[in-house]
Amino acid sequence: MSDLDAYREKARAFLISMAPKFGRDARRANTVEQDLALGRQYMAARHDAGFAGINWPVEIGGQGLTHLHKITFDGEEMQFGMPSHFFGISLGMPVPIVMHYCEDKAWVKERVLKALRGEEIWCQMFSEPSGGSDLAALRTKVETDGNGWKMNGQKIWTSWAQYCDYGVIVTRSDPTIEKHKGLTYFWVDMKAQGVEVRPIKLAGGDSHVNEVFFDDVRLEDSQRLGAVGGGFGVALHTLMIERYIATDSGGFGPHLDEFIKLAHEVDINGKPGIEDGRVRQQIARNHAMRAGLDSITKRAFAMMMAGMQPGPEGSLQKLVAVRSRQKLSELAMDLKGNLGLAFDEHAFVKTDWGTSWLNAPTGRIAGGSDEVLLNTIAEKILGLPQDHRPDKGVPFNAIPA
Ligand SMILES: Cc1cc2nc3c(=O)[nH]c(=O)nc-3n(C[C@H](O)[C@H](O)[C@H](O)COP(=O)(O)OP(=O)(O)OC[C@H]3O[C@@H](n4cnc5c(N)ncnc54)[C@H](O)[C@@H]3O)c2cc1C
Repeated sequence: MSDLDAYREKARAFLISMAPKFGRDARRANTVEQDLALGRQYMAARHDAGFAGINWPVEIGGQGLTHLHKITFDGEEMQFGMPSHFFGISLGMPVPIVMHYCEDKAWVKERVLKALRGEEIWCQMFSEPSGGSDLAALRTKVETDGNGWKMNGQKIWTSWAQYCDYGVIVTRSDPTIEKHKGLTYFWVDMKAQGVEVRPIKLAGGDSHVNEVFFDDVRLEDSQRLGAVGGGFGVALHTLMIERYIATDSGGFGPHLDEFIKLAHEVDINGKPGIEDGRVRQQIARNHAMRAGLDSITKRAFAMMMAGMQPGPEGSLQKLVAVRSRQKLSELAMDLKGNLGLAFDEHAFVKTDWGTSWLNAPTGRIAGGSDEVLLNTIAEKILGLPQDHRPDKGVPFNAIPA
C-alpha cells in the first residue's frame, strides 16, 4: 500500500468516527448559526487529530506533509459533508498569504492556530461592483498620511464576511498610473471602526455572500502585505495558491449513480425512464465526461508527485463539471415531474437535484466565470491570440468609466 493509500485509510477512519455528530445527515435542519458552532467544534477535533494544516510547515503549526496528502484528505472529507465550508476560503487563501507576507511572525502563528481550530475566520475581499473578472479595475481606495492609511470604498460577493474576524483586501493606492500597477494589498480587522457588512440573499435562500463597505477605515502600515503598488502580484499569488483543489468528478452535485437510480424509478410513456434513449444518451455523455475529468486529475496528481506544476488544463475541470452538473440536475428535475420543483430549504447541494440546480449558476461565476475560463483555455491551452485589452498602458484615472 502506498503512503497516500495508507493516509487515505487513516483519514477515512477519522471521518467515520466524526460523521455521527458532524456529517451531512446529522446536520439536517440546522440553522446557519448552529451549523457554524458545530463547524468550529469539528475544526478543533480535526486539529486535535492532526488533519489540520496538512501541507503547511510544522514550524507554523502545520503537519509538514505534501499537497497530495491535503487533496486526499479533502476529497474524503467532501464525501461526508462535514461543516468545514465556513473555513474553506479562510484556510485556502487568506491565511496562507498572511503567513507568506506578514512580517510579525508571532502574531501570524497565533492567527494560524486560531484559524486552523475554527476560532477565527478570514475572508477574501477582491471583487467589487466595478472589478470582478477584471480585478485590476477595482476602485476601493487607500490614501496615506505618511504614517498609516485611510480606506474608503466597497467590496461585493465576499463569502462568509458576516462571520469573519479578519480579511485580506486589494485596494487602489495610485489612480494616476496603469491599472495593474497602482494596487496595494492589506489585511483588515473586520471588526474595525468603519467596516460594515451587509448580507445578500441568494436564489437558493442562503446569504453566505455579502457587500462590505469601508468608511474612513484606518489601516496601519504594518497591515500592508507586499510592496506599495505590488498588490496585483500578491492578488495573483493568492489566486494561484493550491490551484489544484480536491475535485469531485461527480461535478459538485449529486452523483451520476443517483441519476441512474432515479431513471430506474420514474416512468416515461409507460416504461421505466432508464429505457428512454434520450436519458441513456445523457448518462453515457456524463459518464464519458467524468472519465475525461478524472484523467485530467490523475495527470495533475502524477505531475505533482514528480515535483512538477500542473498546467492550465485545471480550468477545464470547473468549466465542464459545473456546466454538466447544471444540465444533469435540470434533467433530473424534469424526470421527477411536478415533484422536481418542490423546494426543500434544508436540502444539500450534493444530495438534492433542485438545490444543486438552483446553486449551479453561482458555481459558473465564482472563482472565474465560464467565459473567463474559456479565455484561459483559448490563450493558454490552444495558444490563440490574447483577448482585446484596450486599456493597456492607459493611466487608471484616464480610462472612461
Ligand atoms: C457564490 C459566490 C461567492 C463569491 N465569493 C467571493 C469572495 O469570497 N471574494 C471575492 O472577492 N469575490 C467573490 N465572488 C465574486 C466572483 O469572484 C466574481 O463574481 C467573479 O469574479 C465575476 O465577476 P463579476 O461578478 O464582477 O462579473 P463580471 O466580471 O462583471 O462579468 C459579467 C459577465 O461578463 C463576462 N466577462 C467578463 N469578462 C470577460 C471577458 N474578458 N471575456 C468574455 N466575457 C467576459 C463574465 O463571464 C460574466 O458573464 C463570489 C461570487 C459568487 C457567485
